[in-house]
Amino acid sequence: MPTRKLLLYFSKCETEKPIVYRLVKDYNLMINIFRAKVTPDEEGYLVLDVAGTDEDINNGLEYVKSFGVTVNETLKGVRWDSVKCTSCGNCIPRCPTGALYYPDKHALKVDFDPTQCIECLNCIKNCPFDACRSLF
Ligand code: SF4
Ligand code: SF4
Repeated sequence: MPTRKLLLYFSKCETEKPIVYRLVKDYNLMINIFRAKVTPDEEGYLVLDVAGTDEDINNGLEYVKSFGVTVNETLKGVRWDSVKCTSCGNCIPRCPTGALYYPDKHALKVDFDPTQCIECLNCIKNCPFDACRSLF
């Protein structure tokens, strides 16, 4: 039976919806939750395995997306805030993969490539401006 590992990220207005219950009951899915942060009046996330037929999984994901839940299959929990980032460069030598980098070495404006991020969390520990954070 197909199994997919997913991160569901939802805004604070959706945190009290019985998402997992509905996925099990209405879409015949088996759910294994690895990590969760669900606090009333705050944004939250679930990291889970979803097992079922492809059709049931896809229908279940359409259901959760229909009320604004972000479904992330890459499980990259690190977020970079381009507004908070001052391009101070403190994180650049500490990022082992170049996920935080200077696209233009002359402009010295930092950018973030989430596909390169291995979630080592170095940038979070070393950012003086709180521009990096983890969903986990
Ligand atoms: S340490 Fe923080 S503020 Fe400085 S460049 Fe990196 S992400 Fe931007
Ligand atoms: S978590 Fe690690 S790999 Fe990802 S951007 Fe930060 S320092 Fe780079």
